[in-house]
Amino acid sequence: MQMLMNPVDARPLIESAARRVIAHAEELTRLDQAIGDGDHGLNMKRGFEAVLNELDSLDGDDTGALLIAVGKTLVMKIGGASGPLYGTLFMQLGKSWPNEPSAIGLHACVDAAVQAVAARGKSQPGQKTMLDVWVPVNALIAQGANCGAIRAKAAASAQATIPMEALRGRASFLKERSIGHMDPGARSSQLIIEAVCDVLEESE
Ligand code: ADP
Ligand code: MG
Repeated sequence: MQMLMNPVDARPLIESAARRVIAHAEELTRLDQAIGDGDHGLNMKRGFEAVLNELDSLDGDDTGALLIAVGKTLVMKIGGASGPLYGTLFMQLGKSWPNEPSAIGLHACVDAAVQAVAARGKSQPGQKTMLDVWVPVNALIAQGANCGAIRAKAAASAQATIPMEALRGRASFLKERSIGHMDPGARSSQLIIEAVCDVLEESE
């Protein structure tokens, strides 16, 4: 994770995340078919294809501005509940991107983004949403954890949404019948985190 704090062209990280989400669109759709309306894969694919299309035209050296631009595109293109939420996440990551490289700076940045999503979604961890991946992963970031530990935490956190009952979003309409399925947004968040870790590890 320390690599992320060095001045680096962030575009390969975004590109990796976008390609991973697009490659798993069918899986995300299946997850959303089980407890939602089955559009999460298509929503995310549409959003991240638009991100890929604009990536070359963006300034890779200004990570904050890059993340804000990505967030705006996601809001416009993803749609559904997750569009404004993922858009908010990336836009706030951009707005809060730290000037000083440190694990605690990155933690504060992700914390601001998580808070913004929670405010927008009137949600908190434990309700079977994307927050159930971002919050535990961010706790590890605060400790300066390496990519291996962060990847494992993201995977375990997505798995941990399976026994949860959904209390926000469409899946909450199913009440206890939402139990036994992974939350699609938790899975897409895990994919994004893994894909970023893959690029960071390559450059370590
Ligand atoms: P929609 O629910 O409109 O069909 P998507 O299927 O694209 O939108 O996204 C569903 C995902 O969005 C869920 O799996 C969940 O992770 C996330 N989500 C939905 N509502 C909220 C909320 N209020 N707070 C946080 N995340 C949410
Ligand atoms: Mg849906």
